[in-house]
Amino acid sequence: MNTSFTVILLGPPGSGKSTQADFLVREMEAIHVDIGLALRKTAEMNTPLGARVSDIMNRRKELVPDDIVEEVLSGALASVPPNRLVIIDGAPRCSTQIGIIDGILKTFERVVNLAVYVALSEEESVRRISRRWMCPQCNRPFIAGVDFQEGTAQCPSCHIPLSRRKDDTEEGVRKRFQVFASNTLPVVEHYRKAGTLLEVDGTKDPIALFGDIREHVVLH
Ligand code: AMP
Repeated sequence: MNTSFTVILLGPPGSGKSTQADFLVREMEAIHVDIGLALRKTAEMNTPLGARVSDIMNRRKELVPDDIVEEVLSGALASVPPNRLVIIDGAPRCSTQIGIIDGILKTFERVVNLAVYVALSEEESVRRISRRWMCPQCNRPFIAGVDFQEGTAQCPSCHIPLSRRKDDTEEGVRKRFQVFASNTLPVVEHYRKAGTLLEVDGTKDPIALFGDIREHVVLH
């Protein structure tokens, strides 16, 4: 495969961005750049930066400052070979990050080729997140009662117990949904105007949804 196609994934909590990124990794050999995951790792570090990021993400459930996101994204892209399909999951999250991300991509001779917006209502977002568990090793999400039954909560690949994210409380998801509505929907509109937006229905079956997205990913 020879491509530097770059996809941005946007959507509220629980919309299935990570699941779609996983499909793209497995079926199209994409590199998944997960900003939220990188920030959660930073938040776990026993450093002043870790404590600051943890306070913003886990206590205030707000957006981390742009300069930290910029550093995380530049670091992640630095190790990506130029000819790989890249999926940026979770950024830009606000209008000020649009130019920052364009600038970073430019240094790697990339542009945003496609922005995918996975739309989901607040109630569905809360319903999904309140039942979401994660594998602490491979970070795959699992929905209780759908992907596993209570009492057997182990990752089938890593064989370790699933755990909950610190910000996956009802109060946490409602706050993050509001942050999405006020900060990230203007980003969605930016890509719509630019003609690079694909809006998909997050309530659709994940495999059918992947079919919709795959059609728009152009590989050379
Ligand atoms: P996510 O894993 O995408 O749900 O993100 C979890 C948290 O990480 C968010 O609630 C924010 O606090 C932070 N975060 C993720 N991406 C960004 C971003 N692009 N800009 C600022 N904060 C972010």
